[in-house]
Amino acid sequence: MRVVLAQPRGFCAGVERAIEIVERALEKFGPPIYVRHEIVHNRHVVERLRAKGAHFVDEIDEVPPGSVTIFSAHGVASAIEERASARGLPVIDATCPLVSKVHSEGQRYASQGREIVLIGHAGHPEIVGTMGRITGRVHLISTPDEVDGLKVSDPNRLAFITQTTLSVDDTRAVIEALKDRFPTIIGPDTKDICYATQNRQRAARDLAGIVDVVLVVGAPNSSNSNRLREIAAESGVPSYLIEDAAALDRRWLEGASAVGITAGASAPAELVEALIGRLGDFFDIEVEELSGVTENVRFRMPAQLAEEAAG
Ligand code: SF4
Repeated sequence: MRVVLAQPRGFCAGVERAIEIVERALEKFGPPIYVRHEIVHNRHVVERLRAKGAHFVDEIDEVPPGSVTIFSAHGVASAIEERASARGLPVIDATCPLVSKVHSEGQRYASQGREIVLIGHAGHPEIVGTMGRITGRVHLISTPDEVDGLKVSDPNRLAFITQTTLSVDDTRAVIEALKDRFPTIIGPDTKDICYATQNRQRAARDLAGIVDVVLVVGAPNSSNSNRLREIAAESGVPSYLIEDAAALDRRWLEGASAVGITAGASAPAELVEALIGRLGDFFDIEVEELSGVTENVRFRMPAQLAEEAAG
């Protein structure tokens, strides 16, 4: 069995930074550290940090007075930040800088008096955060069909922004539908979809072109991992999103001679290693890696931890 690995795959710079923030905060301030929501969408990452003394909470009010509090990579609404500040909690913000960029962009459009059309998935923490960062009206849509139903105050004062982890092709279709109905709408095209999402999607498509089955390592609630599975499946190859090696079903590989593996931006490399190990239990495997983009993006640590990062 040929095992072909997509490149790039797995951790992006925003996820690496968020995890490092929790680890450095644990070192600097000692446990317990409180993290609002899963720091990134991956159970294995969350459990590892929990074992080191991180507590994951749903609401700011669950954090004991005075405790160091970290906001997750997905970002938070302004109201959450204000609540933490009103409680005097020492906050470290692990919001990915590329999510923060979308927040500022949305707010900039809103301050020009434009209503915002946000392209994204309802209920995803990034979308909840982004909607809660923009003063003014925000319309959330996820498909081209929803464009017709939009009720806006002034069709000539509109802007759109997008979630960072969407499918580039699907988003382009939504943007086209928006421009057809509202020719003067402005927005960043698909540039809000982050570099890591775009690179992983391209690599997943390349991978699907040369294998019989694609396995995507990632959490079921991870947006970018779900998009990778969909993109591979759209190429006509059976594709499965699995949390870890234990979820592998051998029947998926019946008759296959090449299996492709990729991983979402929040999936640790160990999970891919373990999956390769599992495939090795079943088959005589030969592992190869596709050539692809080499990423060297790295984000700075927040000010509270910058000294440690430099040292
Ligand atoms: S997927 Fe993109 S936006 Fe999300 S954390 Fe990673 S780099 Fe940031």
